[in-house]
Amino acid sequence: MNLADTIRSIPDYPKPGIVFRDITTLLGNARAFRRAVDELVQPWAGGKIDKVAGIEARGFILGGAVAHQLSAGFVPIRKKGKLPHETVSIVYSLEYGVDEMEMHRDAILPGERVILVDDLIATGGTAVAAVTLIRSLGAVVEAACFIVDLPDLGGADRLRGMEVPVRTLIEFEGH
Ligand code: AMP
Repeated sequence: MNLADTIRSIPDYPKPGIVFRDITTLLGNARAFRRAVDELVQPWAGGKIDKVAGIEARGFILGGAVAHQLSAGFVPIRKKGKLPHETVSIVYSLEYGVDEMEMHRDAILPGERVILVDDLIATGGTAVAAVTLIRSLGAVVEAACFIVDLPDLGGADRLRGMEVPVRTLIEFEGH
């Protein structure tokens, strides 16, 4: 089985010129979902990871499975206004405008070893903000994991520039 073949590509969604990489078809394929999670966690199997942080919303699905596999806790990084307890937040730039993401302040403790998970890295804006937020709590980002990398957009290189090891399983050219 080729994992890349289980991802559905939708041209011009959500706007002209973007090819949306839809991982719901991978998630719905039992063998592909298991293999993607197994491959994502492989470097840390048997290692000590305290928390897996997943980025809303597809990072929750993958991050939950990754956390289970590593016997780690799971921490949601959410869009502003969704978390009920005291939060830390960060504003970050999107292609047009800005957005804000939040975590519970007590979700990760200083010194804890954290793996960040999302479905895809493009420009890296989202992941860079998430790493900054996790580090602001004094935790250590051991790695960032994504099923898909769009290397032409440079996000994985931005993370490596912040000394975050990056693990990705599939690359697609272009946007
Ligand atoms: P970025 O901050 O540019 O790295 O964008 C990453 C976030 O946007 C991730 O949460 C992705 O789920 C989503 N995303 C960006 N580009 C795509 C794409 N071509 N297909 C699917 N999701 C995307």
